[in-house]
Amino acid sequence: MPTQLSGSVGSGGMNVRSDVITVQTLLTQKGQRPGTADGICGQRTIAAIRAFQAGFMRMPDGLINVGGLTWQRLNSGGAGAPGAPTGPTPPSAAPGSPEFARSMTTTVPRPAPGTFNVGLTAVSNRWMRENFGMPRETFSQDCQAVTNAVLKRNVARESVGPFTVEGLRPAISSLKQVFAEIATSQPDLYRLMGTAGMLCCRYQRGSTTAISNHSWGTAIDLKINGVLDTRGDNRVQVGLTLIAPIFNRYGWYWGAMFGTEDAMHFEASQSLAQSFKQQFA
Ligand SMILES: [Zn+2]
Repeated sequence: MPTQLSGSVGSGGMNVRSDVITVQTLLTQKGQRPGTADGICGQRTIAAIRAFQAGFMRMPDGLINVGGLTWQRLNSGGAGAPGAPTGPTPPSAAPGSPEFARSMTTTVPRPAPGTFNVGLTAVSNRWMRENFGMPRETFSQDCQAVTNAVLKRNVARESVGPFTVEGLRPAISSLKQVFAEIATSQPDLYRLMGTAGMLCCRYQRGSTTAISNHSWGTAIDLKINGVLDTRGDNRVQVGLTLIAPIFNRYGWYWGAMFGTEDAMHFEASQSLAQSFKQQFA
C-alpha cells in the first residue's frame, strides 16, 4: 500500500484512480463500506469517507487531502481511532500465522472519548427493567437461569457464524449480520473470534445492586484467539478496535468506552434493544 496519495480523494477531490483504490481498500480495512475497490469515487465511497471522519471530526467533509488529518488516520495501520494502534502492531504478519494472531491480541491504549459509540445510547438498568422486566428475582455474582416467562420464550441458542451462543433471539439475529460483515471485511480476524458468553443472569462485576446486561441476553463478551481483553486496564486488543466500528454500525455499544473499560464487552444500545422488543414472540 502506498504511504502517500498523489492527489486528494473524495468530495471535490482530484480522485486519481489509483488513489481512490488505495482509499477504498483502507476504508474497508477500517470497517467502513465504500463498496468494491474499483477506483471510482462515487456516493458510497464519499459516504464511507464521511462515516470514517465522523469518528474524529466534528464536520466531516468527505474529502481526503494529501497528508491531511483524514489521510493520517486512514493510513495509521489499524483501527480508525486516535489512541488506537500506537504499539507494536505488525499487520504485515501473514494471515493465519501465530504472528497475525498475536498482533490482533496486542493491546493499545483505549480510544479517546467520542471516537466510538457515536450516536448510540448505553441502556441503564432502569430502562432495561422498564422495557424487558426482571429476568429473574434473585441475583448473585454467578450465572443463573432466566425465569421471566416472556424473556425465556425469546431466548435462543444458535450459531452467529464463528461460534454458538445463547442469548435473546433478536440479538442473535443482529449478531449474525455483524459477523457476516466481519467475515467479509476481516476474514482472517473472523477466524480468530470466540466468545466468553452472552446470556448470564448476574450482578455487574463488583456490584450487589446493578444487574449486568448479560442478564437479558443483550450483551456479549468476545475473545480473540482464545484471549480475553483485561477489564479496567484502559488498554484494548487491536482486533477489537478493528471490529468495533462494525458493531457500532449495527447499534452495538462498545464497553471499551465505559467508565471502567470493558473492551471485550458489546451490548445492544437503547435503539437496538428497542427494536428487539418489537421482534418478541
Ligand atoms: Zn460483558
